[in-house]
Amino acid sequence: MASSSDSPQPPAGSAAPKTAAARRRTGRHRGEGQWAMGHFTPLNANEQSKKDDDGLNVRTRIETIYAHRGFDSIDGADLRGRMRWWGLYTQRRPGIDGGRTAVLEPEELDDSYFMMRVRIDGGRLTVAQLRVIGEISQEFARGTADLTDRQNIQYHWIRIEDVPEIWRRLEAVGLSTTEACGDVPRVILGSPVAGIAEDEIIDGTPAIDEIHERYIGSKEFSNLPRKFKTAISGSPLLDVVHEINDIAFVGVDHPEHGPGFDLWVGGGLSTNPKLGVRLGAWVPLGEVPEVWAGVVGIFRDYGYRRLRGRARLKFLLADWGAERFRQVLQDEYLKRPLLDGPAPEQPAQVWRDHIGVHRQKDGRYYIGFAPRVGRVDGSVLTKVAELAAAHGSDRLRTTTDQKLVVLDVEEDRVASLSAGLEALDLQVRPSPFRRGTMACTGIEFCKLAIVETKARGASLIDELERRLPEFDEPIAININGCPNSCARIQTADIGLKGQLVTDADGNQVEGYQVHLGGGLGLDPGFGRKVRGLKVTADQLPDYVERVLNRFRAGRADGERFAQ
Ligand code: SF4
Repeated sequence: MASSSDSPQPPAGSAAPKTAAARRRTGRHRGEGQWAMGHFTPLNANEQSKKDDDGLNVRTRIETIYAHRGFDSIDGADLRGRMRWWGLYTQRRPGIDGGRTAVLEPEELDDSYFMMRVRIDGGRLTVAQLRVIGEISQEFARGTADLTDRQNIQYHWIRIEDVPEIWRRLEAVGLSTTEACGDVPRVILGSPVAGIAEDEIIDGTPAIDEIHERYIGSKEFSNLPRKFKTAISGSPLLDVVHEINDIAFVGVDHPEHGPGFDLWVGGGLSTNPKLGVRLGAWVPLGEVPEVWAGVVGIFRDYGYRRLRGRARLKFLLADWGAERFRQVLQDEYLKRPLLDGPAPEQPAQVWRDHIGVHRQKDGRYYIGFAPRVGRVDGSVLTKVAELAAAHGSDRLRTTTDQKLVVLDVEEDRVASLSAGLEALDLQVRPSPFRRGTMACTGIEFCKLAIVETKARGASLIDELERRLPEFDEPIAININGCPNSCARIQTADIGLKGQLVTDADGNQVEGYQVHLGGGLGLDPGFGRKVRGLKVTADQLPDYVERVLNRFRAGRADGERFAQ
């Protein structure tokens, strides 16, 4: 099915094989499949598939063939590879327990339904868009619509036959699934309060829009070594987890040039977590898209393409170091030096999620609210859209903490809207447990999962609220269904990595490896893996309660959990 007629390598704009000096610089990695070194021969099946056909081209086949002939007509390389370029993954076949995840072939795990990810760059939604998202959920996705921790919304139970109609409805309101997954620039994170916050340093929205307009869906960057994650925020709360993105632009005030962005590169979690590093460069708003494209260009051209586990930008950065990375960016991609600039200041607050009622700079208010572990459904989202509209708002934002925010609420309507949200069990003043607990997709739908996450996270919240009603500390409890880190376990106060563990009777049961003391913002760092400490799923509420009680009993004045 794959056509090689428009095989994408090397695409227009990629760096040509370099000079002798450049070759010497990267000589140690001749065998890493770096395009900039002239190595275009695919070194693994994923690279071969991308060379055989650009992932973006699968859309035509979905619309003209697969949606008409059904699931069984889908080419295997499209099914497990290229469909991601349009936000589609096969979901896990129901009834397969976590013990079989690693031993079954991928096709044995495949259901004939899809997970579909809607990208929401900057987390920005209008009432009309949220209404459409809710309607699609109810009509085509059995009501599913999870808020992800990358500001996306994710459906399940999608049939291939319905995909073109879903795209038509999304695109009619300016949304899409373009490059929501795959080895491409994924959704661009943005401050949920961009443009409205009283304390904002700079609004990054114009840069997000320009990058989206120029580069998302473009074949210039549709074949990267792996996924590429972007965050842009001018909020002093550092509210887009910039430390763990491949590239981040963080709002800073330059002493001579004014508000702009501090450039970070090379962050990422998963099985080899790395915090991003500063390049020491200050980027004005208007130059963000150009600098972004330069960094993505480096990743495309110099990124490692031999082993998937070493293909993220963080590995190249670790080998090069920040100084050399900046030099290559300036010399080969921007053709000019960047200005030096200051680091962002530490945020004044631990919570960075915009939950609660806050005044905007125009005198109106925004209201952030919390479902449990990002789980909402289509009917709830539709009701939220109607509530917002009925209270005079046309704008909402998703957050990087699986939460939602309604903007532009007049002061005299705040109480009524808050009450309406609370009536939907979307809490404006949630407990620290509801506020700080996140969970990834887990075994319900994810083919890589070993354990359940969403339902367990929701019941853990309820249990902790019942057992510890007085607990009022900021706390982050992140639950993952496997060793990947979609719910950022390494950066949580209590990170729970799903795996099978042995219970008291010697049985293999669902449980978690515990990581303690991670954090971003005030104290960036990865949680300590507590050697040998694994809890069964049944023991989880008892274990977390014990940890929190011990912390409360032993803490010094003002001490936070992670300290
Ligand atoms: Fe799936 Fe693992 Fe990611 Fe959870 S962390 S969504 S189980 S890949």
